[in-house]
Amino acid sequence: MSIPTEQWAQVLEKTGGNVVYKKIPVPKPGPDEVLVNIKYSGVCHTDLHAIKGDWPLDTKIPLVGGHEGAGVVVARGNLVKDVQIGDYAGIKWLNGSCLQCSFCRTANEPLCPTPDLSGYTVDGSFQQYCIGKAAHVARIPKECDLEAISPILCAGITVYKGLKESGARAGEYVAIVGAGGGLGSMAVQYARAMGLHPIAIDGGAEKEKMCKELGAVAYVDFLTSKNIVEDVKKVTPEGYGPEAVILLAVTEKPFQQAAEYVRPKGTIVCIGLPANAFFRASVFDTVTRMINIKGSYVGNRQDTAEAIEFFRRGLIKAPYKVVGLSKLQDVFDLMEAGKIAGRYVVDTSC
Ligand code: NAD
Ligand code: ZN
Repeated sequence: MSIPTEQWAQVLEKTGGNVVYKKIPVPKPGPDEVLVNIKYSGVCHTDLHAIKGDWPLDTKIPLVGGHEGAGVVVARGNLVKDVQIGDYAGIKWLNGSCLQCSFCRTANEPLCPTPDLSGYTVDGSFQQYCIGKAAHVARIPKECDLEAISPILCAGITVYKGLKESGARAGEYVAIVGAGGGLGSMAVQYARAMGLHPIAIDGGAEKEKMCKELGAVAYVDFLTSKNIVEDVKKVTPEGYGPEAVILLAVTEKPFQQAAEYVRPKGTIVCIGLPANAFFRASVFDTVTRMINIKGSYVGNRQDTAEAIEFFRRGLIKAPYKVVGLSKLQDVFDLMEAGKIAGRYVVDTSC
C-alpha cells in the first residue's frame, strides 16, 4: 500500500478562527502507534467547542480537529502486534493514555491524567491520514460501513456509557435533553435498544419528527413549552418524572431544570459541556427527593467494543448527512446555529 507524503486536512491556525482546507504532511506512526487512512469522520459539537476555545483547557495550535474518524490501518509501529495492515479502525476522543496510572489500571482510562485527546491535544480525524495509539484505536469489524459507524466513535460510545452510568433499567423512562443533536439522536436509539423509554427534549419540528421516528415516546419542545418541568413529568406513567436524565444540551439552562423533573431516587447524568456553565440544584430537593447527580465522560475500551457491537447488530441507525471534508466550516456554521438534526459526517476524499 503506497502512502503519500502529503494529504488534505482542515487546520485551525488560531483559536476562534475558521478552519482552513490545505495540504499538510502525512505523519509517521511511532513504535506503539498505527496510521489510519481516514475515510469518514463525524463532526461533534466538541470540535466546535475546541475551535471556539470554550473550555478551560488549551488545544494544540495549529490543530487538526476531529475524533470520530473511521478508516483503514495503512502502517504500524514495530511494537504493534494485534492490529494488522488493512484492518478497519476508529480514531476516538481518547487517542492514547498511559495505561499505567491507577485510573488506566482500573479501566477508567478517560480519567488518565496524561491523556492524548484526538483533535484537541493531538491531531485528529479531519485529515486523510491520522495517528492513533494501537491500544486505543477502536476495533471496527469488517462488515461495518465506515460512513455510518463514524458517529458511533464519539457520540455512540458516550451516550451508551452515559445510559449505563444512569443505572436506568429496561422499562424505565429516560429524558434525553438535546435529543435532536448528534449525541441525542444516538441516545434515543441506544435507550430504545436497552429497553428504556426515551423522552426527547429539543427544539423545533424537524427534530421532533426525527426523534419520534427514532423511537422517542414523547417530545418536549424547549422553544415552545411554557413549563418544561411539568411537560416532562406528565408524560411519565404516574407523573413523578423519568428515572434518568441524560443532559446533552450545549446551553446551561437545561442543567438547571433537570433536578426539578427527575423522579425521586432518579439519576441525572451530565454529558454536554456548555462553555462556562454550572450545574445548580436545590439542596432541599436533592436531599428529600434523594436525587443522584453525576458526570459521564466518553467511554473506556470495553464501552467502545460494546457500543460498536450494538451498531454491528443493526440496532443503531441514527440519521446523518455526508459532505466533503472541504465543506467542514459550513458544518460548524450550521451547528453553531443549532440547525443540525442528527449528525454530519465528512468524506475525506473531497
Ligand atoms: P449538537 O449540537 O449536535 O446537539 C446539541 C443539541 O442540544 C441541539 O440539538 C440543540 O438544539 C440542543 N439544545 C440546545 N439547548 C437546549 C435546551 N435548552 N433544551 C434541550 N435541548 C437543547 O451537539 P453534540 O455533538 O450532540 O454534543 C452535545 C454536547 O456533548 C457538546 O457540549 C459536546 O461537547 C458534549 N460531549 C460530551 C462528551 C462527554 O464525554 N461528556 C462527549 C461528546 C460530546
Ligand atoms: Zn465528540
